[in-house]
Amino acid sequence: MTIEATNLTKLYSTQKALDNVSFKINSNEIVGLIGPNGAGKSTLMKIITCFIPQTEGEVRVCGYDVTENSIEVRRNIGYLPENNPLYLDMYVREYLMFIGNIYKVKNTENAVNDIIGLIGLEVEKNKKIGALSKGYKQRVGLAQSMIHNPKILILDEPTSGLDPNQIIEIRNLIVKIGKQKTVLLSTHNMHEVETVCDKILLINKGKLVANTKTANLDVNSLISTIIVEFDKELDITTLKTIEGITEVIAIKKNTYKIVAGKEDIRSEIFDFAVKNNLKVLSLNMEKQDLESVFHNLTK
Ligand code: ADP
Repeated sequence: MTIEATNLTKLYSTQKALDNVSFKINSNEIVGLIGPNGAGKSTLMKIITCFIPQTEGEVRVCGYDVTENSIEVRRNIGYLPENNPLYLDMYVREYLMFIGNIYKVKNTENAVNDIIGLIGLEVEKNKKIGALSKGYKQRVGLAQSMIHNPKILILDEPTSGLDPNQIIEIRNLIVKIGKQKTVLLSTHNMHEVETVCDKILLINKGKLVANTKTANLDVNSLISTIIVEFDKELDITTLKTIEGITEVIAIKKNTYKIVAGKEDIRSEIFDFAVKNNLKVLSLNMEKQDLESVFHNLTK
């Protein structure tokens, strides 16, 4: 139930949509794929689901190569594409039977009943898809992606366009499903990543810029911002010599905001002060939320 990408690159003519991306997603993880528009999220999902081929590199899904064993890969994957394309004139049950038959699911009738129960479509199962609310349409999309009982689910912006109640319902469903499956979902919503995902993959301009457990973000694992006050004014460029520092801003007399691209550089700042005969009058580490980490890594 793993997804493993190695040195994955995708070119659309001359445009690089993915640039040497490598990562591994383990069994039963819910992983959030985040990044600004045009970062390459949908491209990555389309390659994993065998919709488009990569230009270079390798992707393995449950150990199967997406190029050489695409039938096996598709058997193991359920995919909810962006914008959730559905046949609006079909009835919910009829549509799920139709998809189940395409996948040649054994005992389709039972499989459809099970999925209707699991996804909470019981009350709407006899309605036309076109007559459903957006939240229920999304449930039908999720149900179709799971009708063949895949081990892995790829969900492209599963909650986009839903109202706050529908968002919570779909998120709860994803968490429930994620207990038995590996899930990769893309989203723009940082709160969603923090509440639903075990891990995040952050891509920017086709490059993987972060691959970390969501819980680690609470302890400033990616970037730390420190406000430090010394007893004397100093030249900003000398502060920049501390290893790991990416940005220094003088915010008021003798006080500096220091942004560092590593976990915690407080002790390096104290060492710097001792070496330069400075006294540290105050030092505070600012807590980062995912929103600011995202902003800092992709700006
Ligand atoms: P995201 O899903 O993160 O918004 P995409 O994967 O859709 O990003 O796109 C990544 C980049 O590749 C963008 O610059 C986009 O314009 C480009 N792109 C996507 N699909 C195609 C295509 N079929 N032909 C040419 N360029 C494309």
